[in-house]
Amino acid sequence: MNPSYPGYRALMLVLFGRSGQPPAWRSQAACAGQDTEEFFDPQHAEEVMAVCLGCPVLAECRADQLAWESSGQASRRYYAAGTVAGLSGPDRKRLHYPRKDVA
Ligand code: SF4
Repeated sequence: MNPSYPGYRALMLVLFGRSGQPPAWRSQAACAGQDTEEFFDPQHAEEVMAVCLGCPVLAECRADQLAWESSGQASRRYYAAGTVAGLSGPDRKRLHYPRKDVA
């Protein structure tokens, strides 16, 4: 996979942290050792989501991912694709930019 791919970068950041050091919760991640390309392959979306939803550190992963995306360091394009922390790119985008025109 091309490491410049925005979704790939987003996943690497949440899994390994900005410093290159993995967060403490990472050792318990259900995706440890899993092929990260699957997180961006729509054909594996259901399988990846099942891994995340059964992950013992889902809450920590999701909190770190959403905090990073909200920090201003992430461009919208960084979460336009892929599944991270049990959320698809569109799911995460909706959390950050909820529609205001829904009654
Ligand atoms: S929630 Fe998903 S992406 Fe996050 S550590 Fe667990 S398996 Fe990996």
